[in-house]
Parts: sequence; C-alpha cells; structure tokens
Amino acid sequence: MRKKIVAGNWKMNKLADEAVALTSELVNMANDEVKGDAKVILCPPAIYLTTIKKYIENSPNFSLAAQNCSDKVSGAFTGEISAAMLQSIGVEYVLIGHSERRQYFNETNALLAEKVNTALANGVSPIFCCGESLDQRQNEDFIGFVKNQLTESLFHLSTEQILSVVIAYEPIWAIGTGLTATAEQAQDMHAALRAHLADKYGAAVAEEISILYGGSVTAASAPELFASPDIDGGLVGGASLKSREFTEIIKAR
Ligand code: PEP
Repeated sequence: MRKKIVAGNWKMNKLADEAVALTSELVNMANDEVKGDAKVILCPPAIYLTTIKKYIENSPNFSLAAQNCSDKVSGAFTGEISAAMLQSIGVEYVLIGHSERRQYFNETNALLAEKVNTALANGVSPIFCCGESLDQRQNEDFIGFVKNQLTESLFHLSTEQILSVVIAYEPIWAIGTGLTATAEQAQDMHAALRAHLADKYGAAVAEEISILYGGSVTAASAPELFASPDIDGGLVGGASLKSREFTEIIKAR
C-alpha cells in the first residue's frame, strides 16, 4: 500500500515566531487526522528545520523536508546545505527540482539527478518535482516532456532506490496562479507517469511509489483530486501557510 502524503511547501515565507505558531496550530488541529500510512510533511525554510523538529517530536506521522539541497557532498560551496547535513539533524525528505528552482536557479535534469543521488546516499528521500509549462501543455507532447524529466533525473536509480523517491507532479501553470488542474487532467498525467515507472521498474514497483499532485490545491479542490486512483496526496504551497485550510486538505487525503 503506497503512502498517502500531504506536504506543505512554505517556500520563503514566515518569520521564526510565525513558523513555530503555524507548526503548533497544525499539530494541535491535524495530529488526530494523520493515522496509519498517512503522512504530513512540512517543508519550512531550512533555517527553521531544527526548531520545527522539536514541535513535531510527539507526532510520529509528521515529517520534515528541506526545500533544496546541494548536489555536492561537502566543501567550499558557500551558502549551500548538503544532504548529509539534513540527515544529521533528522530531516527525512528533500524537495528536488521544484519548478521555481528549475526556473530561477537554472536547475537542469542532469543536475537534479546529482541531487537525487546525494540525497539517497545520505538516507534522505527525494520528493522529485516535475511538470510542464502552459506553453508546453498547449503546443507540445507535454506528457512526453514530463516523462522525460523522470527518465533523465531518476531512471539511473536501482529498484531499491526508486522506492525511496516520492514524485510530485506540479504543472507550472497551476503553481501559485489559482488555476488547478482538473482531477481528470491530473489523473491522466499521474497514470501516464505510473505507467512510465512500470515500463522501467515493473508494475509492482510502480504501484508502491507515491505520486502527489501540486498546483493551487485548496480545501475545496483537494477532495476530488485526492479521490483519483493515481493521486496519492498533494504538495501544497500557498494553502499550507494557513493552519485551518491545510488541516482541511490533510483531512481530504
Ligand atoms: C508549490 O509551490 O509546490 C505549489 C504547489 O504552490 P501552490 O499550492 O501555491 O500553487
């Protein structure tokens, strides 16, 4: 049974006291909702990871993700944070390949493959983000484009390694825009990505890999999206900054 996951990507938002307040509110409101195989993953700015960890200590189904890590192991890379450092403070997941990193920091599929490698080598599970732009959706083989993102950044992994990866399909045109893919559009892509994983790793392995949907998910849109057979939860940006709405999204998973 693959995990149902709701992850909240805070991006570059919240000051320290606000980050603590949001976490405390979430733990109070959502802890009883997250049982069994379900998981909530908070992705705060890296500077808050250690503090937030203390606030989720007694909530075993809450985990932490960093929003990024270096592709390098260690050394003279000022400002960077390594996967080993994340592991050393108990961070279990890392977002890799968010479209904002691809767009503003020129992260390529090849670089992301390196980041995936260093994360896995240090026992940190990648949440690998993929997705097409509006122009690609309208003018190109957009499913082929997203499949290729998986091929180039993930398909060198062994079966054991791919089973530690979570995939997040995030159409760029739906991120932070208020436009959500319809449940049908999202399900079509998720099914295509699962089939692509099955072609490479076999159906049994593909069935085990959680594929999250991201792109303006709200409390209103989450129930229909999450009810789709190949959508295993969500990666939520804006709505994860509001404890009540994020709790409603968690309940919908
Ligand atoms: C995201 O940044 O991963 C995201 C999906 O953002 P939003 O929910 O705000 O569209």
